[in-house]
Amino acid sequence: MIEQQSICGNCILPDGFLGVHLNLDGVCEFCANPDHKNVNWSRSIINTERRQNAIIDWNNIILKMANNHRKVKYECVVGYSGGKDSTALLDYLVNGLDLKPLAVTSDTGYMTNIAKENIKDTLSKIQVDHIMVENVATTFTKLYRYLFLNHKSNDIFLTRYICDYCSDLIHSIIVKEAIKNEIPYVLFGYSPDQIFRYFFEIPQEEIIRKWRPEIIDNPTFDDKDRKCYLTEEDINHGRIPRVILPYHVIPYREEDVINLVESKNYIKKGHADPLLTNCNVVHAATFYDFNRYGGILYAYQYAELVRQNPQSRKKWLRTLRIVAPLILENKFKEQEVIEFLEKIGTSPFEFLKLIHNQIEKDPNKSQIETIKNLFRKRRR
Ligand SMILES: [Zn+2]
Repeated sequence: MIEQQSICGNCILPDGFLGVHLNLDGVCEFCANPDHKNVNWSRSIINTERRQNAIIDWNNIILKMANNHRKVKYECVVGYSGGKDSTALLDYLVNGLDLKPLAVTSDTGYMTNIAKENIKDTLSKIQVDHIMVENVATTFTKLYRYLFLNHKSNDIFLTRYICDYCSDLIHSIIVKEAIKNEIPYVLFGYSPDQIFRYFFEIPQEEIIRKWRPEIIDNPTFDDKDRKCYLTEEDINHGRIPRVILPYHVIPYREEDVINLVESKNYIKKGHADPLLTNCNVVHAATFYDFNRYGGILYAYQYAELVRQNPQSRKKWLRTLRIVAPLILENKFKEQEVIEFLEKIGTSPFEFLKLIHNQIEKDPNKSQIETIKNLFRKRRR
């Protein structure tokens, strides 16, 4: 068993885990104070008024899209990943609202085969036009290479960075398709627990000012890479579409979504599991984070689920005990992580050496080693 005194008695966060310390009662900061936040994790609480306004807004958008039906080629673009949520969103628009969306997938070059299979299965059953943007894979590879090999923070998870940078690039590519086709709305199927940066709508200001990262001006990148982001021309001449996250306001239950996509044969049974459709980049970043910091970003998310449902604590502790040593030693998605590291020009050996050198310079070094040993000892 993991020694009880080193894990928060209320959730599942270990003592010494990046930015987490247990108090004298053996409880972490997040459990002791519901408003606590740090650089890696904060809970977004959306008040009733804001939620109410978003629902009204969404109903107006549906009306406008319905009014445009048959007057324009497409009423909206759907960012379509092949995961259960964007699949269910397509079904809702086409079969529930009788609309004609354009599905756009940006192939990062790192999509899982299951996600690709899901797309094929779904498109054979839903009548919808689909664009697969494929000529951007080298830009994603350069971006990952740069971020993985130059992550120098002592306190922010690589996963935090990767997912933000990557989704900004994916969003840019999809929004550019909407601009090119003069489509006024872009919809993404983020589930309601994914309210980390945005609620319901990504503000235009963010789209214009924040998506294009400063690092893209680094000589590692060229003009072709820069053109994946919104250019001055896009901003000045095109109408920037509104980018909406409808699941933040329409009723959402994960079981219902899985049932729907499986019963309509869009996605084969068992293939809706996010662990399978999650990209391998995240698995590699998780491998880095655990070895570098002794923790992973998902632990915050699981801890939050435990706070909401204390009965699930045992289950998550068991998961932690089984999965943690596997991630630490790259036995979880081993081949995928190795392949990813090779694609960005390194190897597991070189990568661990880089991590080791970084830990040597980290003031939290001893704490990191302690917590890693705590999980290593779990192996039978
Ligand atoms: Zn806690």
